[in-house]
Amino acid sequence: MRNIKFGYGISKPRAIDIDSNDLRKSNEILREMPELQTCIGCGSCTASCTAGNLTQFNFRRVHTLVRRGEYMGAYEEMNKCMLCGKCRLVCPRGINTRGLAMLIKRKLGDF
Ligand code: SF4
Ligand code: SF4
Repeated sequence: MRNIKFGYGISKPRAIDIDSNDLRKSNEILREMPELQTCIGCGSCTASCTAGNLTQFNFRRVHTLVRRGEYMGAYEEMNKCMLCGKCRLVCPRGINTRGLAMLIKRKLGDF
C-alpha cells in the first residue's frame, strides 16, 4: 500500500494511565478529606479564585492533578493561594476547598 503523506498525523492518545502514578499522597488526601471524591470538576473554585484573578493559578487544575497522583509543581502552585476562602462559598458540593488548599500544601510540603 502506498504511504501517502497528508501533512498531518494522528494525535497521541490523551488517556491517563493512572496506575503508573504514585497515588500515596493522593490517597492520604482523600482519606483526610473524602468529600473531595464528590467533586464534579465544575471549575467554580477556579472561577471565583482571588489568586486566579491575579495570576495563572488554576485551583481546579491543581487539585485534579493531585488526585491523579501528578504532583509536579503542585506545591509551588499552591503557594499562590491566599487562603481567602472564596472558593468554599461557591462549591456546589460543599467541599471545604480552603481546607483542601491547606491539606495539599501540608501533604506536598514534605514531598
Ligand atoms: S467548585 Fe467544588 S465541585 Fe467544582 S471543581 Fe471546585 S471543588 Fe470541584
Ligand atoms: S482560598 Fe485559595 S484557591 Fe480558594 S479562592 Fe482563595 S486564593 Fe483561590
